[in-house]
Amino acid sequence: MAIYLDKNENAFDIPENIKYEFMEYIKKTNLNRYPEKGLPSLLEKIGDFSGFNGDNIIAGNGSDELLNIIIHQAKGNILVNTPTFEMYQFYANNYGYDTINVPLKSDFSLDTENITNKNNVKLIIICSPNNPTGNLIDRDQIEEILDLHIPTIIDNAYYEFSGEDYTDLLNEYDNLIILRTFSKAFSMAGLRIGYGIANRNVALNIKKLQAPFYINVLSAKLAEIMMEHYSTVQEHVKYIINERKRFYSAIKDIAFDSRANFLLLKKDLYRYMENRDIHIRKLPLLNDRSRVTVGKKEENDVAIDAIKEYISENL
Ligand code: PMP
Repeated sequence: MAIYLDKNENAFDIPENIKYEFMEYIKKTNLNRYPEKGLPSLLEKIGDFSGFNGDNIIAGNGSDELLNIIIHQAKGNILVNTPTFEMYQFYANNYGYDTINVPLKSDFSLDTENITNKNNVKLIIICSPNNPTGNLIDRDQIEEILDLHIPTIIDNAYYEFSGEDYTDLLNEYDNLIILRTFSKAFSMAGLRIGYGIANRNVALNIKKLQAPFYINVLSAKLAEIMMEHYSTVQEHVKYIINERKRFYSAIKDIAFDSRANFLLLKKDLYRYMENRDIHIRKLPLLNDRSRVTVGKKEENDVAIDAIKEYISENL
């Protein structure tokens, strides 16, 4: 049976009791009607959930959409710390902007000196935990970058797996936007909702660029339901973190440790694993490496066995 460990999705689907609750909502909702203009109640609920006001929250059709809008609005060079999430470059190039690629150091920390020396940067994107390296970026390094007073995104898509909360930095820095998503810890990749937390003026300026009905009623409702069932989300996250630790210990020789729901492998095992019907992520910009998502125990067991076999044959 094929195993999909390629897209950093949550190993768990939304449990059936929660799906029933969602279906009840669908039954009694008039789908011929538009959502509430600007989705204010969703923003309020995300605000309550994350300890902010609705004014501080932006939401989008996946955090991808928010990245798209914010990058578009930057109107100039975007600094990214490579290797990192490829969509930053994709959006920048779509708008004809250049990315300034500053390589991470060999321990995957930021090269703050190199970042500081770049001119004409309109937006800095720090991905933490970083995809695909899996490490957290040190908060002192982040503060050093925020002190440049250039608009900066912390892409915190894997926040719940890392336990590292950067929102306190928003008290001090109004050039910061923290992006999160319902796609990973909340198991909602198929419904496409991401959100951001920022200073209210920053949030307001992004809202001005959005269409009135930027999220559909069903996705918005399921996000609300999932926030009410956060203990289930936490159970899934805990399971995945435990599995990540087990996975990493079993293949230490060939992997980097991670604070997300995936591991970066030190070799390109894409083809080797494909041949075993285990789908992992090929990394076009990092051609001697590959990335494996942490799945359910049974899936991880199969992947671990295959990787161990590779290690015993090749290392
Ligand atoms: N940021 C990072 C670092 C990601 O890995 C992903 C998804 N792979 C996203 C953002 C986009 O997430 P979504 O659009 O599903 O919210």
